[in-house]
Amino acid sequence: MSRRSLYIPLLLLLTACVIPSARSEQRGSRCDSIPEGAKRLIEAYPTHIVGYEDNMIIFADGERLVYDDGKQRSTVEMHIEQDVEDIFYQEYDTRCFPPAYGYDPGRYRSAALFDKIYGRNQEEVIANLVKVAWCPSFGCDSLLFSRQAGAAEALKRVSDEFELRPELREWVVDAQTFCYRNIAGTNRRSPHSYGFAIDISVAKSHYWRWAYPYADEYQRIAYFNNISLEVVEIFEKHGFIWGGRWYHFDTMHFEYRPEINPPKSVVQKAVSRWECPSAISEMVSSGIFDGVCR
Ligand SMILES: [Zn+2]
Repeated sequence: MSRRSLYIPLLLLLTACVIPSARSEQRGSRCDSIPEGAKRLIEAYPTHIVGYEDNMIIFADGERLVYDDGKQRSTVEMHIEQDVEDIFYQEYDTRCFPPAYGYDPGRYRSAALFDKIYGRNQEEVIANLVKVAWCPSFGCDSLLFSRQAGAAEALKRVSDEFELRPELREWVVDAQTFCYRNIAGTNRRSPHSYGFAIDISVAKSHYWRWAYPYADEYQRIAYFNNISLEVVEIFEKHGFIWGGRWYHFDTMHFEYRPEINPPKSVVQKAVSRWECPSAISEMVSSGIFDGVCR
């Protein structure tokens, strides 16, 4: 069987996970073999990631990337080296606020994955950048953002919402996006280097490295934030995560991370396709599904 022909059964299998059936003897079988994180990646980046097989993420061009390398890492080690699975180390839960000690959901990124989606070097990233009209009615300049993975479209939707909320203008008129650089104090590429991150209201923001220039990752620090949560809500609705939800706060910072925080417009679809087995257990208990996973 060709590699491509394997993907079609995979999609059929995933779709079948939510179809009610009376064949309860196959309970919890094949769909459980695809990790939840891999399902989220396929849902979030459908034009780039087309499947999962044998612990490998499969890209549309046939390239493969190890999902779980089996290594146990500390949070500090995950910043230096990581596999794709480490992205999902912590669930992005907006109820966990202010963030508890060590809670940094989405701060662990797979460089190999984002290199592949957004560009391996400055030249490749720049080739994918487009200008997004950022709140033009507020008099803002256009911003450069990646057209990959729907990032620029998501930023445009955020802009459209802000334009309907002129009372929030002060928060978004100062905005910066693409900048090819490393994260302060590290040799890792910043998400701004890929063109999927935006900083707003730098002058009103708090960043843990500015507040605690001598702190290491394990030091306990106090949390600061002045950014309006109404502003945060609008970004989060469209698939962005907020650095203000991190214990290591970066309150000016938002990045497009649909695998961590699916845009609200696609959440319903994501739940219906991927919430297996957790949503299935709910459906079983409510009597609308017998729990068969084929
Ligand atoms: Zn930033």
